[in-house]
Amino acid sequence: MSYFRDNIKALEAYVPGEQPSPGTKVVKLNTNENPYPPSPAAMAVLRDFDADLLRRYPHPYARKVREAAARLYGVEPAYVLVGNGSDDLLTMVMRSAAEPGRKVAYPTPTYVLYRTLAQIQDAEVVEAPFDDDYSLPVDELIEAGAAVTLVASPNSPSGTLAARDDLERLAGRLPGLLLVDEAYVDFADRDAMELARTMPNVIVLRTLSKGYSLAGLRLGFAVANPGLIEGLAKVKDSYNVSASACAVGAAAIDDQDWKNANAEKVKASRARLAADLKEAGFKVWPSQSNFLLARPVDGGAAAIYEALKARGILVRYFNQPRLDDKLRITVGTDDDNAGLVAAIKELSDS
Ligand code: PMP
Repeated sequence: MSYFRDNIKALEAYVPGEQPSPGTKVVKLNTNENPYPPSPAAMAVLRDFDADLLRRYPHPYARKVREAAARLYGVEPAYVLVGNGSDDLLTMVMRSAAEPGRKVAYPTPTYVLYRTLAQIQDAEVVEAPFDDDYSLPVDELIEAGAAVTLVASPNSPSGTLAARDDLERLAGRLPGLLLVDEAYVDFADRDAMELARTMPNVIVLRTLSKGYSLAGLRLGFAVANPGLIEGLAKVKDSYNVSASACAVGAAAIDDQDWKNANAEKVKASRARLAADLKEAGFKVWPSQSNFLLARPVDGGAAAIYEALKARGILVRYFNQPRLDDKLRITVGTDDDNAGLVAAIKELSDS
């Protein structure tokens, strides 16, 4: 006998990357945070935040963030729904559209939380493997005909971008929702936001955790036509975004110059780190995100992960098929990256 539903009993909990306690001296290249600080304008809002606004409940739709995002993408606020991180919006999509007897499909390997959320709903999971070049398995996804199809673009952990034509074809042929998770798109050359404005079944997800350097604030938003947004909103927690997150996040969205300048720095560092890792004998996949998927020559990724950890450098290792010979390395500052490369070289010399 268990207090929980059968599928929850059977569920393997999602394990987030390690978060060492503040003050611990580590080079943290494991959870794709931005190495640069958030917008000074956003930090000023946090410093001056009116305590009386904490006494009262926040706006149920995080009005300021909703309006800032709508302005930025040239849509009505009714096209935007704000969440407590984009994970919150993923939960809303699954809660509203996935259930036993309905399918949830996505290419693999990808963000592991998709599976967890589908399993929580006890939906049927369809996993369509990516090729080694990570182009989207469009035909398999169309064939699955799922109620919810999820595509991370750029994908994690590969860093690769889905082709726009593939996404459009997919959206046009699916009977259900197509969620394009653009968590890392601030580091990419192009995005699929247009599909959220033009296709009736497309939801585009964004987060402030990566490009805006605000992972700790917990803010994300979905863009989709108002009919979809209304459906998702039915299943959201009443006050899912805190008053402080709303005020700070709106100021961050308004400061595009700051975000864009940091993204450019990360992109330049990404190119340098990729070149250095290749020189050290790694295979590195082309990345449009703020991390690199890298395979050491001999595939001994687990040993390198452990040895780096012992030296205070955290990277991400996924002990699962197709990934257990690779590392996912977040692009840090040039100093962080140089330290990582030096440690890797030392390890291969020893
Ligand atoms: N989507 C992808 C692909 C991610 O890697 C992450 C971060 N781990 C998220 C969504 C969730 O980000 P957040 O909840 O911080 O917005």
